[in-house]
Amino acid sequence: MVHHWIGGTNTRSETGDRFTTVSPAHDATVGDYALGTASDIDRAVRAARVAFDAGPWPRMSGQERASILNATADLIDTHNDDLARLETLESGKPITQAKAEMNAAADLWRYAATLARHTCGEAYNSLGENKLGLVLREPAGVVGMITPWNFPLLIISQKLPFALSVGCTAVIKPSELTPGTTLQLAGLAHDAGVPKGVINVVTGLGASVGSRLSEHPDVDVISFTGSTAVGRQVAAAAGRNLKRCSLELGGKNPHIIFADADLDAALDPVVFGVYFNMGECCNSGSRLLLDERIAQEFTERVIELARTIPVGDPLDPATKVGAIINIPQLEKIKRYVSNGTTCGSRLRLGGHSIPTPTGRFFEPTVFDGVTPEMAIAREEIFGPVLSILTFKTKEETIQIANDTLYGLSAGLWTANVDTAFEVSRNIRAGTIWINCFMDGYPELPFGGYGDSGLGRELGRFSTDEFTELKTVQLHIGGHTGSWL
Ligand code: NAD
Repeated sequence: MVHHWIGGTNTRSETGDRFTTVSPAHDATVGDYALGTASDIDRAVRAARVAFDAGPWPRMSGQERASILNATADLIDTHNDDLARLETLESGKPITQAKAEMNAAADLWRYAATLARHTCGEAYNSLGENKLGLVLREPAGVVGMITPWNFPLLIISQKLPFALSVGCTAVIKPSELTPGTTLQLAGLAHDAGVPKGVINVVTGLGASVGSRLSEHPDVDVISFTGSTAVGRQVAAAAGRNLKRCSLELGGKNPHIIFADADLDAALDPVVFGVYFNMGECCNSGSRLLLDERIAQEFTERVIELARTIPVGDPLDPATKVGAIINIPQLEKIKRYVSNGTTCGSRLRLGGHSIPTPTGRFFEPTVFDGVTPEMAIAREEIFGPVLSILTFKTKEETIQIANDTLYGLSAGLWTANVDTAFEVSRNIRAGTIWINCFMDGYPELPFGGYGDSGLGRELGRFSTDEFTELKTVQLHIGGHTGSWL
């Protein structure tokens, strides 16, 4: 059994209760974890508080923190195979993809290490002859991090090294479906030199452990990634203590193909964009908006390519689409497909779960003839389901693209630079890809408009979430004048 990680050691849960994780592809038990309680969170927050208020981490130089973050990245690389295998077994994602995600996670730690040496404030030498103003950037304190199951190690690596880089300490609540790699990461960071109490992980359910973390008075910042519905609850709980809260939430992202685009180049990214990670991806390009002049031809090509996707055992290196995380998620996908078939759109490919001796698999699915008011055009399905809509003009595609509550990302393909920039400027989304899709770099901020969230991760602005500004004003030389 794996315990919580609190104060730099494996720590039993208060009650001794446990839960297990199950491989979505093999129906086999993968991990046996401590079922946390609110008081386990309280213990973890105390450890993080002491590490912040009295420990070495916030007081170290940026150079020292950077070298420990880099050492953690090296250990993630060393353990790539084990981490990727555990990630695949708990999440159902293809092993080749999981290995690439471990590489990307290590790169995030290395990028965050550079910020440890670059995060700084400002000096105002313009306030008058005998005045100097300093704006100091200080670590915000204890950060609570709550993460989902679809990219467990990657998403915690979008938060944790960035908070650590500026000197914060952390209490992490990973998804109860995939806690394994987050616990392993805490151990690796410890081996790399992160002092005890700086990283704490409490496993368990959202309603008990997650909600206690969101409302805890000694937590200074909450960084949440997950569904919009839970994000609202987390923000409300954080608001009761006026703690800062950043939210990375869902999406229903448009992928737009203009008639002048390089259709050969767009085809593979369109299929990748929707079926990557079984469609269980906040950035999924699940709404394909086609210029009606090329819609029929391109739809046929998408269907032909999607038909060839290798779906199956995620441990097979050839697999591109693995297993659906659990039965509730599979049932949700089926409900949307059933809705799509009765609301007037046409089911052109897939639409069924795949019968296998173990696990839960769903066919890559395509609907065309979808119109903007349909649920399959507006709501996040979080499965391998593509909805194809058509448009006549640039103005119409912008209007359709913006016609959801979400605003996470969008892709567009065109040979016309004016079209590219006009559409990019008018779509309300945190990331726009032009003639590419779902590329990501640690240097570039990521986050959403509207119901897709609050705040930004990655890039140099990411540390804004984890720092406070302090103004220090200094008088130089003798004083003249008086109030009275
Ligand atoms: P979820 O919202 O159900 O759970 C996310 C986390 O919140 C889990 O750890 C869960 O235990 C916890 N939680 C649940 N109830 C809670 C509560 N009341 N208080 C505090 N914590 C609670 O999401 P999920 O099903 O794990 O993940 C899928 C969702 O995440 C999708 O909507 C997806 O779009 C979104 N997501 C967004 C991004 C992004 O960066 N924008 C990335 C990945 C996933």
